[in-house]
Amino acid sequence: MKSGYGQVIIMGLVFLLIVLNQVQLSTGAELHIPEQNIPLQLSSSGTVQSLAKNIIFSRTEELLLPPQQTVAAPLPLPELPELVFSGTAVDKVAITFDDGPYPGKTEQCLEILSQYGIRGTFFIIGAYGLRNPDQLRLIVEQGSELGSHSWAHGRLDKMSREAVLSDLKRVADLIYEVTGQEVRFIRPPYGRYSRTVIAAAEELQQQIVLWNVDPRDWDRASAKEIVQRVMEQVRPGSIILLHEGHPNTIKALPLIIEGLQGRGLQPVSVSELLQSYGEETL
Ligand SMILES: [Zn+2]
Repeated sequence: MKSGYGQVIIMGLVFLLIVLNQVQLSTGAELHIPEQNIPLQLSSSGTVQSLAKNIIFSRTEELLLPPQQTVAAPLPLPELPELVFSGTAVDKVAITFDDGPYPGKTEQCLEILSQYGIRGTFFIIGAYGLRNPDQLRLIVEQGSELGSHSWAHGRLDKMSREAVLSDLKRVADLIYEVTGQEVRFIRPPYGRYSRTVIAAAEELQQQIVLWNVDPRDWDRASAKEIVQRVMEQVRPGSIILLHEGHPNTIKALPLIIEGLQGRGLQPVSVSELLQSYGEETL
């Protein structure tokens, strides 16, 4: 009898774990605005992606989508009225890498991108870039682009205006000194930002870029899991978040690229993705 109850309890626990795991997986793609969890729906012809916040532009004039692809007005963002979220109009998806550069791994990543003739966007941590300037140059030489991921992976949303400005400037100056490239994009660590961060980015003419495909590759995921999660979450116009410091991410990268191409989705850098929105609206 006792072992019978034990089995039931164990089975119950297993079931609970499975359910919890499913819940975690199904919500993995969601982003949230830390201050306020606002469910957003992109109204478009047929495709509705709730909580699919690809890109944040800090000025409404920079809306790069055709009108039918924009978030239904009025924007449910009383605190952050200037934010506009992009949609799903193109057959391209951006591949982005955070937290580098990592000597050795960044090179492997670039080699794979080159094999497929594609570019990515690398959101680098300034302090790592200072230690590894060669990797920054290689990223640019390969044709990929550099974005900022703050100087030391700090919580920008908790910093003062002066601190955020000096942090973002420091990264931008480093990238400019090493590569001659102006930084156009900032991805705040943990996706956390505030009005102050938005204003500081705008002042430095940097656009905040988030993501809407997150395979959680840093969280002990196998290469197979990373590929599966990306392919489950990805939609036309998505921005995929990867971390090139993880060996399984590098293993998964060719399979992700081939999976996307097999679905008719072309992997590109963030600026290439934005350009294609621009072309559509011209
Ligand atoms: Zn990060």
